[in-house]
Amino acid sequence: MRKLSFVIGATATGKTHFIEHHFSDENSVVLNIYDYQQKAYDEAGFKEAIPFSAQFRCLKKANEMHLHDIIEELEQGHNVVAEQTFFKAKRRIAYIDKIRKALDIEIEVYVMCPSDDRWAYNIKMRELSGSLKNYKEQTERDMEFPNPAEGFDKIYEVIDDEIFLRMDEPNLEITEKARRELAEEEERICKEDEIVNKRKELIESMKTRPFWHYCEVCGKKEFITVQDAFEAGWDYPPHMGHFGFLGPRTCGNCLLKDTLYWRVNTEKKVPIPVVVDGMLTTEEVLKEYAECGDMSITFLT
Ligand SMILES: [Zn+2]
Repeated sequence: MRKLSFVIGATATGKTHFIEHHFSDENSVVLNIYDYQQKAYDEAGFKEAIPFSAQFRCLKKANEMHLHDIIEELEQGHNVVAEQTFFKAKRRIAYIDKIRKALDIEIEVYVMCPSDDRWAYNIKMRELSGSLKNYKEQTERDMEFPNPAEGFDKIYEVIDDEIFLRMDEPNLEITEKARRELAEEEERICKEDEIVNKRKELIESMKTRPFWHYCEVCGKKEFITVQDAFEAGWDYPPHMGHFGFLGPRTCGNCLLKDTLYWRVNTEKKVPIPVVVDGMLTTEEVLKEYAECGDMSITFLT
């Protein structure tokens, strides 16, 4: 029978190393979620800095592509080894439900639970910026250990070089909660899409109808169309910059160098990942960056 083996766990717990040593079967295909995340970021046009608002979408997209390929490889008769972080039951269930619907296969999961020494060694070898304490705290806070009720045939705990079968009592509450969370998440995403679409329509309509233009330097106000503004020399979206993003807003008589945009970009060089639509203030964005470090942003929690 074809088999799907998940190898899951936090950063630097030894997933890749375990896969290389434990799965040497020639018929096995290894699919690593990190490759898919990189692809999703690349496709979205992000090379280094990724705005928070886009991150969740990219990670979700990566999971969808990963799941798609897992099913495809299994359908072609291969065994699949899938590397994932998979902290939450809801993320695992989203995969398992779809896989079970498509195929009759055996699904097992190996949870990497290294000793402190081994984990610290891995972090050091990979020259990661996070400390063992950070990674451990995050794992203890966010990780839900897989339960047979999620649909796994076998669940293993991997402690350094030893593998232990660990089948907890099936707990249906876990799966009910996970399905509820997934449904809520789906609803939230639909609402967000609706807002984005409405906004796009609004911006499109602003090309043809007049709206208030405010000069941030002299305070002048004019109720004019985009074309009128352009002809009168205004620096204003959508001709210059974008609505909802920091940019110059000046009439034809005022100068770019007197704008907030100019000050931010030439004097202080504040790394504003852009104050998007007033959803976050600059302080909030910077605070989030400071708090998240580079760990919690690499996978869906
Ligand atoms: Zn002005």
